[in-house]
Amino acid sequence: MRTITTITELRRAVAAARGRGRMIGLVATMGALHDGHLSLVGRARGECDTVVMSVFVNPTQFESRDDLAAYPLSAERDADLAEAAGVEILFAPAVGEVYPDGFATTVTVAGLSEGLCGESRGPGHFAGVATVVTKLLNMVAPDVAYFGQKDAQQAAIVSRLVRDLDIPVRIEICPTVREPDGLAMSSRNARLRPAERKRAVGLSQALTAAEQAAAAGERDADVLGRIARRKLAEHAIDAEYVALVSATTLVPLDPLVPVDAVAGPVLLAVAATVGAARLIDNTIMVLDPRN
Ligand code: AMP
Repeated sequence: MRTITTITELRRAVAAARGRGRMIGLVATMGALHDGHLSLVGRARGECDTVVMSVFVNPTQFESRDDLAAYPLSAERDADLAEAAGVEILFAPAVGEVYPDGFATTVTVAGLSEGLCGESRGPGHFAGVATVVTKLLNMVAPDVAYFGQKDAQQAAIVSRLVRDLDIPVRIEICPTVREPDGLAMSSRNARLRPAERKRAVGLSQALTAAEQAAAAGERDADVLGRIARRKLAEHAIDAEYVALVSATTLVPLDPLVPVDAVAGPVLLAVAATVGAARLIDNTIMVLDPRN
């Protein structure tokens, strides 16, 4: 594995691989790697010849300095894990390489960015995400880029910006990797104290409870949301949001319209702060109207 810190060197390395006829896959991360990130690498390795991983804690997507300062950093461990997983090129640029003096451009995906996490994290959050992802796609120019379903809103935004800006890349959204008890893996889980870690399982259990109700025939969005909230409350978790939205447009479901009357898959998403960690999780429900 080669670790590269400049865009010029990155482009040269990717061009050399492409010159050898290799298909390029990109996994973009903010480091503090866990099995969720590595599952994306595994998928990329299965489908591409050369896997590029970026590790860049993007300052523009953090709404507060404290949150940015608290973000875990583990460069050496990340490099070891990336290499063991089969990453060929590790791109770890400094902030000044990505945002040189005079940087003035922002990519905003209207509509998809404002609800859910956009509401609490502010309008700048997903603009920061969309801008850095656009830049990384331009820097690496991969054939395929892999993102996790865990960050469902980000996945929808990236898919839309690639389509809207005609960026020649295929976006693959990969399933959420979970701890044995169901908690979605996240770099932020490290902030949970033992008692909070136990309570945090409430997020995935809330999703499961709503899914089970849907499987048993419940089609009222309000009722499904209430079932999820009740499960969160059992774990003393006060949700920031519990939302049932269209998985593609992220538009909230009309409570007067049964869930299975909505065209396409439905996303049930939750966000909650447990201790010092803001956690998110979601599930996609594809409901058969006859059930
Ligand atoms: P992050 O480092 O948190 O920005 O995440 C980098 C990529 O890994 C994003 O595409 C995330 O959606 C994805 N990811 C993070 N956690 C998980 C997980 N538990 N399962 C699958 N993908 C994940």
